[in-house]
Amino acid sequence: MATMESTEFARTYLSPHGPMRMLGGAPALDLANTLHWRDGAEIDCIPSYQDLLIFCIPALLLSENEERALERHAANQPRVARDVHLEVLKLRAALKSWLNVWAKNLARGVTPKPVALRSFHEAIGQAGGSAGLGDILNLQSASANERLYLPLRRSAAAAAMLVLFPSGNDIRQCEADHCGGFFINDSRSKPRRWCSMDGCGNRAKAARYRLAHQK
Ligand SMILES: [Zn+2]
Repeated sequence: MATMESTEFARTYLSPHGPMRMLGGAPALDLANTLHWRDGAEIDCIPSYQDLLIFCIPALLLSENEERALERHAANQPRVARDVHLEVLKLRAALKSWLNVWAKNLARGVTPKPVALRSFHEAIGQAGGSAGLGDILNLQSASANERLYLPLRRSAAAAAMLVLFPSGNDIRQCEADHCGGFFINDSRSKPRRWCSMDGCGNRAKAARYRLAHQK
């Protein structure tokens, strides 16, 4: 059973912008959260294919062995790696815009319109390419050229999982100003409001405290 305490010790990705914890509760949500706001600026925690590979380990999108193999492939084929990286960023943008619609509608208690879902389906289809499930499961089954696409194909599969099997339909967005982080609400008693208790949660509490003591 995932508790608030366990999420605070979540798997961590050491991004070029500092540590990022996997707090989304699903690989697709952690991918969406790689682009987020911090101190008033939007930062991208996966600015290169190599960074993407390292992120994929704690996000459970690649094993350590797969990551090592892909790092070698990427060094031999930097142009393909760059293209794949751009494709992942495109998928992430589609994912985030769908999540924005989804979370806002949920907060207002209405069912999201299928239009948003249709364009997201298209983006997932494009990112999945012609890869079959075998290619997505196993690095070795893909052709040499296709191997570098594994992070993209797995990200597409993770996004498809999120749409097909949503966790209780309860995807929420962090309530902290300028955070925008997405997570699955896994708390049954009281709905979770922040992406992290010790980060955004504590900041919100401190702000409330300051406000209350100003009067
Ligand atoms: Zn947050």
